[in-house]
Amino acid sequence: MIDKIKDFLGVDIQEQKYKLSHDETFGMIADEKKPDKWVFSTCGYCGVGCGLYIGVKDGKAVYTKGNPKHFVNKGTLCPKGLSEHQMINSPHRVQTPLIKRNGALQPASWDEAFTQVSTEFKRIQKEYGNKAVAVIGTGQFLTEEFYTLGKFVQLGLQTNNYDGNTTLCMASAVMGYKQSLGSDGPTSSYEDFEKADTIFLVGANIADNHPILTLHINKNPQKKVIVIDPRASKTSQMADVYVPIKPRTDLALYNGLAYIILEQGWENEGYILANTNGIKALRKHLQDYPPQEVANITGIDVKTLYELAREFVANEKVMTAWTMGVNQSFMGTDTVSAIINLHLLTGHIGREGTGPFSITGQCNAMGTRETGFTSSLPGYRNYGDEAALKEYAQIVNVPEEIIPRERGYKYAEIIDAIDKGEIKALWITATNPLVSFVNQEKIRKTLAKLDLLVVQDAFLGDTALIADVVFAAATWGEKEGVYTNSERRCNKANKAVEPIGNAKSDFDIIVAFSKYFEGVNEMLFPNWSEPRDAFEEWRKVSKGQLCDYSGISYELLEEHGGIQWPCNEQFPLGSKRLYTEDIPFRTADKKAKLLCVEWHPMAEPANAAFPVILNTGRTVEQWHTRTKTRDIAILDNLAPEAWVDVNPNDAKKLKVKSGDRMSLSSPRGRVDDVVVRVTGSVREGTVFVPFHFNTQLVNRLTQESFCPKSGEPNFKQTAIQLHSQEVPQGLELKEQEVSGAIAHHKVVFEGVTFKEKVSSAQ
Ligand code: SF4
Repeated sequence: MIDKIKDFLGVDIQEQKYKLSHDETFGMIADEKKPDKWVFSTCGYCGVGCGLYIGVKDGKAVYTKGNPKHFVNKGTLCPKGLSEHQMINSPHRVQTPLIKRNGALQPASWDEAFTQVSTEFKRIQKEYGNKAVAVIGTGQFLTEEFYTLGKFVQLGLQTNNYDGNTTLCMASAVMGYKQSLGSDGPTSSYEDFEKADTIFLVGANIADNHPILTLHINKNPQKKVIVIDPRASKTSQMADVYVPIKPRTDLALYNGLAYIILEQGWENEGYILANTNGIKALRKHLQDYPPQEVANITGIDVKTLYELAREFVANEKVMTAWTMGVNQSFMGTDTVSAIINLHLLTGHIGREGTGPFSITGQCNAMGTRETGFTSSLPGYRNYGDEAALKEYAQIVNVPEEIIPRERGYKYAEIIDAIDKGEIKALWITATNPLVSFVNQEKIRKTLAKLDLLVVQDAFLGDTALIADVVFAAATWGEKEGVYTNSERRCNKANKAVEPIGNAKSDFDIIVAFSKYFEGVNEMLFPNWSEPRDAFEEWRKVSKGQLCDYSGISYELLEEHGGIQWPCNEQFPLGSKRLYTEDIPFRTADKKAKLLCVEWHPMAEPANAAFPVILNTGRTVEQWHTRTKTRDIAILDNLAPEAWVDVNPNDAKKLKVKSGDRMSLSSPRGRVDDVVVRVTGSVREGTVFVPFHFNTQLVNRLTQESFCPKSGEPNFKQTAIQLHSQEVPQGLELKEQEVSGAIAHHKVVFEGVTFKEKVSSAQ
């Protein structure tokens, strides 16, 4: 009562609530949350890999603080990292296994859940073959969990139909590195952002998606930042030069820059001769990409093209960093190779401040790539390489015959195989395709055809809600292992609190589940009881491979706050960059490949019925499909729903202003009630919508167009229509202005490739 009166009179300053007290590690902190202990760990959201401490009080996570000594973030964290502890106690956590009974998910024991799933898996495999069971994984597991899951699925369940969310995110970078350099593996370090003279950021909105990376760029006093992006994102505001490129014309741009570099004799001949193959064929191929033609395609004028090419050679240290704008493309793999071509032509690779550098999306997208089973066998061993297969079989002591000779279906192929009735059971781990995958209507109908859908997750997301069985997983802060960030830095994540309710770590779930299959646990996980067992085997399996972890131990990670692979006897504290004099390219002749890669027009360009190009992406406040962030008030209140960025000229035609509501449609579906933001950050005829929200599910609109090499979806360009209240029929197709010899937009509409057009014009 006294408190209420004080409150009413305005004299209650909530002294107790806001009182500070001294903490030995961090100085003055909120007394109310002063932890009993701080647990050394790593952020579990994005691929930047910030080091942090989790504050624990009375057995609960109450604080997250950046690790001041960690190289990646030097004590800073972005809003998601700062509030990460709140995610652990989300009301949407799955606290116990669930089994669907009479149409509703009901709590069950672990034995009931494992028995039901293992019995069904065995029945299905007996009836339809081993490959009728498929698995779709994540970028969120710890490396030990990826290694354990992959081993169990491919060597235990004997199915190679195992792919993951990484294919929606990084697969094009993986395949681009592989086809150009001989192996997956990002070449550079964050330190290179600090040392480069020129930094190209292409299709990368790091200000929203990897905010802590901006610290490394800002530390660089002499840098010039060039942002190339169809959208003037927050990142473009930190650029010295912003180049607004037409959507999905990036590959033509990089080919065009390579043309100019060779035309002007700006290439590094010595480097090319000593380290690459393919220059002759590339020179010939690039004749299809003269500056005027590239200007027509990209919308970047010829003078700017020459200036950009000049920037690539004017200084000693040039790096290019990219993310989803490049990867999420139907030509993603080849676009990555076109970027790599530029670095090989100029010798900007393998040295301080240089390199083509992919920035990963999820906290351990790298771990899933390294431990393999999706795009390669563990340790980047290629499918079809018999010697590598034998070596792997020997290390892990299993018969060679059970190791797959070839990769199974990619993510989208798994969905298609379910649709065709070929795959009957699907096990999804820590990912939520009912928000994140393209063409939602199709995937929803397809998943309904399964005999069994198992979801292993810490949160009851949209996909878990339609599952037959849910395995209740522990989340970040409740389990131990390592994550590897974008710069190949392996970081330790520690357990701060016990898993909620009856949940188990993903490592424990897989090992326990394997016991329901005769002889499997004994063969694959003999005496394994903790993640360290998987890590020790992984060190042996990766030894001698590019991603060599043999020199890394848990203890060394805690001592040094993260170590970059390869780490071995030659590099006892890791390696800052790849393809230096000591680390050759991973091709047979140790030379990189200059590849002839071709630009193609979009399969579904803007047209009379759908004249607007939709671009999707992320915002700093939310994480993926919001399973982890929707219950964190400080984040969700800042971005509680999707919005659509509309150019002022289009807004005028649609008679809408910021704050109005609009609908979006494509040949695949419709999304209603999306709030309008009128902004010059998007070009006329294009819009941007964040993909996180199941309420305004923008992936109802996106198309099934995939990179044929990586399987990555072309999330970034979808032809849509906008419907406002005043103009429900939407926009009319704008006539495109065309200059120069090639009428690019005519090429698009006629469905004729650029090369064919060039040939026919000659
Ligand atoms: Fe976590 Fe990424 Fe934010 Fe760092 S930048 S705190 S790793 S979400």
